[in-house]
Amino acid sequence: MTDLEQLRVVASTCTRCPLSEGRTQVVFGVGAPDADLLFVGEGPGREEDLAGEPFVGRSGKLLDRLMWEELELTRDRCYIANVVKCRPPNNRDPAPDEIEACRPYLEEQIDLIDPAVVVTLGNFSTRLLLDSTAGIRQLRGSAFPFRHGHLVPTYHPAYALRAGGEAMAEMRADFIRAKRLLPASS
Ligand code: URA
Repeated sequence: MTDLEQLRVVASTCTRCPLSEGRTQVVFGVGAPDADLLFVGEGPGREEDLAGEPFVGRSGKLLDRLMWEELELTRDRCYIANVVKCRPPNNRDPAPDEIEACRPYLEEQIDLIDPAVVVTLGNFSTRLLLDSTAGIRQLRGSAFPFRHGHLVPTYHPAYALRAGGEAMAEMRADFIRAKRLLPASS
């Protein structure tokens, strides 16, 4: 069993925060354990909680589409994770103590996958990983040095679906920025 699989097994019975009480299952992450590109969202919604996989609902369809159209990648060739691994009730935002409780899992996923590029989707993952209080509108549009590579912040797909037009174009531009930072072999 790889270290990432071992971490998944440990996470699957986690009770570090109250989100464990309402979940169907832990949504650990999906994709290639040695991916060059890691997407980090916010937390599972209802469909993800039932499926046990991140971004399988409407937001996920958009993520898959942009990934393919701008990066020529499918989800099995990158890795997708979330800030919190259990569904917040009624799709509310994850609370600060829940984010802190879940943080070691994300940190270890990043250490083990060791991606060249992390794309953060929305405010929660961007603020957490950049240790910033700035909003996504200010932070997107640039790449930041991160661990052994780079971090590219972009909108959450749910926001791009709501906002449409310009937000969608900016999200595409962020994906292209990420692509340029990937190793040629990706
Ligand atoms: N939104 C997220 O941030 N993550 C998911 O897995 C699904 C929707």
